[in-house]
Amino acid sequence: MRNFVYRYKSKGLAKMVCEAAFSFRRSDFDANFAKIKQASAPCFKYLEDIGTAKWSQTYFPGNRYNLLTSNVVEQLNKAISKSRASPTVEMFMFIQRMLTRWFSARRTKSAKHRGFVTPEVDKVMQTHIRLTKGSKIYPAKEWTYSVRGLFGHPNTVHLDTKACTCQVFQKLKIPCGHAMLAADSIGLPYTQLVGDCYKTQH
Ligand SMILES: [Zn+2]
Repeated sequence: MRNFVYRYKSKGLAKMVCEAAFSFRRSDFDANFAKIKQASAPCFKYLEDIGTAKWSQTYFPGNRYNLLTSNVVEQLNKAISKSRASPTVEMFMFIQRMLTRWFSARRTKSAKHRGFVTPEVDKVMQTHIRLTKGSKIYPAKEWTYSVRGLFGHPNTVHLDTKACTCQVFQKLKIPCGHAMLAADSIGLPYTQLVGDCYKTQH
């Protein structure tokens, strides 16, 4: 988002790019991308030249797990900037000490954690629950439910294949609010819905 504000001097445009990038449904993405085209033809061309598979959740062919890995690289870049002027060996020692410190702090924190998923995933699930509050749920067939919210499209969730028409469930491997509502209706624990990669114990 920072890059877009810098390049096109428009916060509104940067926000539109983020909305398109994080759209899960193709139709939402297409509508958001069309808005960008209308607002700025150069920005639209820039994004098209990169290729939508490289920056959008919906066209990326694999599993992104909602992670932006380039942010990690930028953080690290910033952290080692102080050691840039040092000789190579000294710089490597600086990086080694810094990473050891980071991993140690992380280990201490994770040892104290008792939840069945990591704290960040738990936060995402809480947000999903909030977004679908007040929705009505209708059983369609075995393991399949239709969920109708106060706003937006109705959605169909398949608990057996861990998929939903909102696309969030299968893309993130974290249950969407629709899936959690469906699970609640039959007393299925959320542990059954979350991808193994997010669990604290296997
Ligand atoms: Zn859903």
